[in-house]
Amino acid sequence: MNLLLMGLPGAGKGTQAERIAEKYDIPHISTGDMFRAAIKEGTPLGKKAKEYMDSGHLVPDEVTIGIVRERLGKDDCKKGFLLDGFPRTVAQAEALEQMLAETERAIHFVLNIDAAREELMARLTGRRLCRDCGATYHVIFNPTNVEGVCDKCSGELYQRDDDNEKTVGTRLEVNINQQQPLLDFYREKGYLRNIDGSQQIDMVFESIDDILGNLSNSAVKEIYQT
Ligand SMILES: [Zn+2]
Repeated sequence: MNLLLMGLPGAGKGTQAERIAEKYDIPHISTGDMFRAAIKEGTPLGKKAKEYMDSGHLVPDEVTIGIVRERLGKDDCKKGFLLDGFPRTVAQAEALEQMLAETERAIHFVLNIDAAREELMARLTGRRLCRDCGATYHVIFNPTNVEGVCDKCSGELYQRDDDNEKTVGTRLEVNINQQQPLLDFYREKGYLRNIDGSQQIDMVFESIDDILGNLSNSAVKEIYQT
């Protein structure tokens, strides 16, 4: 099963990605991990990417696409994959379509975990960290026993600068603007499935599982019919 996972910051992508990868036994390929691996392995493209990153430049599309191509060509992707963080632009999405077609593959679904802006704001600004041990809490989802005090080490909790309303608001806007053309692209292709990300984590996964389960079943039926 070849899947793409999309969602704004705070939508709960990471948790769902882990669950999907585990249940459907496909590798979860996040852009960050993929870059780190390519750099660590010292592949030619990894070396190139590192040069750009070290000099503080954006890694150009051709390098990013090359790294994705290498990763999707590995054996563990034969049974499928869950891509997360790529593509980020329509040009990258088109390149992905092409590289999959070359190996006679295609995307089955683009799963977009959708949640209202206000909900995401509440989630993203609620994070608190411990100054001493680095433990992470959340004022709504994972509060400490005593407000402002770490359960583990009694350290003082703080809010990261990039978790304040203004910064989070800007980050959301940037992501919304970046994501919209991609959502349109995949909607037109008929791949897009919107999942209500305002539900509880288990319910979000159930919604995803319903979509993917149906695909598995129909694939099984096809095999039996031929
Ligand atoms: Zn602590």
